Amino acid sequence: MGQADEGSLGHLGALWNAGVRLRCPACGRGALFEQWISARDTCAACGQALRMGNGDFTGGVYLNYGITGLLGFLLFLQLEHAGYSEGQEIAVLIAFVTLLPLVTYRHTRAVFLAMLYRAGSLHHATP
Ligand SMILES: [Zn+2]
Repeated sequence: MGQADEGSLGHLGALWNAGVRLRCPACGRGALFEQWISARDTCAACGQALRMGNGDFTGGVYLNYGITGLLGFLLFLQLEHAGYSEGQEIAVLIAFVTLLPLVTYRHTRAVFLAMLYRAGSLHHATP
């Protein structure tokens, strides 16, 4: 199933399947990752190329930075409002900005992969 197929999932469906379910943005069935961070080159269910071009992985990293920065700032405001000491705030924020990117890495990478899929920028694996 290609991007232009009548039965494609649409942009929101592709984002949902990839970003939340970690499934192929084209069919919604094949897993994007073989293991924790080992991404597949093609979808096992539909054969859609899932390999990003050189440097495309940075899109997911930037997305991850943005989410971490935004949520970290909101957490900072909440900690300030709750009256925590500066030391407590720093400890919580360091833990947050260290752990959140690790937890969300696969999801932000998958969202960017879905964006590349919708843009027609995914490449087939080379032998
Ligand atoms: Zn697929």
